[in-house]
Amino acid sequence: MPNKPPALPPRAELGSNREYLPTSGNAGYVVTHYALELDYRVSNNRLAGIATITATATGDLVRFSMDFAGLTSNRVSVNGVAAKKAVETLQKLTITPAHAIAAGSVFTVVIRYGGAPAPVKSLWGEVGWEELEDGVIVASQPCGAMTFYPCNDQPGNKATYSFQISAESTHHVLANGRLTSRVPRASRTTWTYVTDEPVASYLVSIQIGRYREVALSRDPVPQFALIPATLTSNALRDFADQPRMLALFERCFGPYPFTQYTVIVTDDELEIPLEAHGFSAFGRNHIDGQGGSERLIAHELAHSWFGNSLTLASWRDIWLHEGFACYAEWLWSEESGGPTADASVKQHWRRLNALPQDLVLGDPGPELMFDDRVYKRGAIFLHVLRRELGDQAFFALLHSWVAENRFGSVTTAQFVTAAEFYSPAPLTTLFDTWVFQARLPKLPTD
Ligand SMILES: [Zn+2]
Repeated sequence: MPNKPPALPPRAELGSNREYLPTSGNAGYVVTHYALELDYRVSNNRLAGIATITATATGDLVRFSMDFAGLTSNRVSVNGVAAKKAVETLQKLTITPAHAIAAGSVFTVVIRYGGAPAPVKSLWGEVGWEELEDGVIVASQPCGAMTFYPCNDQPGNKATYSFQISAESTHHVLANGRLTSRVPRASRTTWTYVTDEPVASYLVSIQIGRYREVALSRDPVPQFALIPATLTSNALRDFADQPRMLALFERCFGPYPFTQYTVIVTDDELEIPLEAHGFSAFGRNHIDGQGGSERLIAHELAHSWFGNSLTLASWRDIWLHEGFACYAEWLWSEESGGPTADASVKQHWRRLNALPQDLVLGDPGPELMFDDRVYKRGAIFLHVLRRELGDQAFFALLHSWVAENRFGSVTTAQFVTAAEFYSPAPLTTLFDTWVFQARLPKLPTD
């Protein structure tokens, strides 16, 4: 039966991603769905997996590669036929199918693999699958997804997922998407999750630990927390305001993009919290019962709109995630009786003004991709844009930006076009000085 290609996601921008992550991502195809069957033993960190990957060839393929690191592939087939060759080298699994794949056709790759998963070193520290004291955390941004499944690891290639994960019944397993079944068998339990929306591979995450599930709110979407028993009362105090944050962000950005939101608190300390598709992970050090991490709770929640629903096509546009999430922190601060957004902007502008001005917001380079100046300057710029457009037009812009690009891939150029639609005057100079030049512009005077 001839395969009818599905609508393709936006063409992955291999070119610009190469500058930021030279070895991540693969040419010649786009993945549309990953079905991952994972059998994991917390007791000895052993993983056995079967990845069934549906992809569409963007050119004629005699051979193709996938990102894959630290694990061993056992058997590989393409369209049900054993692939001739599969070798792992330089964090790549290279697959040569028995029959060449024609451009435009849909094909299925099945890879059986296993081993002891471990994080990989990167320019930004260790990323990927990481054993905790008594469980697992996966923090993949930007290039760690390959530590637990073979993938086309570039943010422009978003795909849907299903997960079937078995682990010890003593532990809770969380993955992206909706939990569709949880089947205990003797000492092990199989958890099935399905995503309804396409997900970028760096946002794919699995969390395993001894957690209690607590419902935080049902309105406007169900919100849950997975918390170690000893941290429950403090965590519930710390997350008490999250429903109000979500309500504020819905007013500012539009409806929460997904069907539910979960926060998880690991029993280990984490350097920083991190966002994943549909949930965020915090460390025990972020919980104090006194709202000490309120800013971070707001920040991670805001990534649901900026990062998880609207995902950068290329890492150079990281400010489209971090600048917006940081501005959301300041909006929440004002809403909750803290410093106003305007006061936050002035304070952080003064601090940035005293720091080296060698960073271009719209293309910071891989070393400075997660530099705090990207976050703060991005947020300050959004406030400047708000002042330029006026509140009504600015928030209309954010609503339409979020709605029109829901679950898609975005670029700075698209945001410029979207903003100009709401401005009576050209915004070229404003974007040029704030986003494309290193020197920090002055704030507009009152
Ligand atoms: Zn962030």
